[in-house]
Amino acid sequence: MRTLEQEFDAEKLNTMTGIYVKVGILSNIEPRLLYNAYEASHMMNPKYQNVKFHIEMVELKIQCESCDHITDVKKYRFLCDSCQKPSKNIIQGEEMLIHKVEFAD
Ligand SMILES: [Zn+2]
Repeated sequence: MRTLEQEFDAEKLNTMTGIYVKVGILSNIEPRLLYNAYEASHMMNPKYQNVKFHIEMVELKIQCESCDHITDVKKYRFLCDSCQKPSKNIIQGEEMLIHKVEFAD
């Protein structure tokens, strides 16, 4: 919310109807806890009562240091799909970010 309040002016925020958040599976954020935190902030900020909160889990991806191949990590196997070398070069899955905000017309 604080990020959004810096990003948009108050008038715009009053027409906000939805927030889409991407949460990486390695970010250690429990979607349910995030949701609870959001609900709690609702109590203090009644003006966001109509805002829907969407959480999308983001898969883990690594990029191989040797061949640059990008692999979807499954079951925490950090191995390149292409050359089978181990890699810890995580390019997606650790972050939490707001990727879309919806406003009423
Ligand atoms: Zn590779």
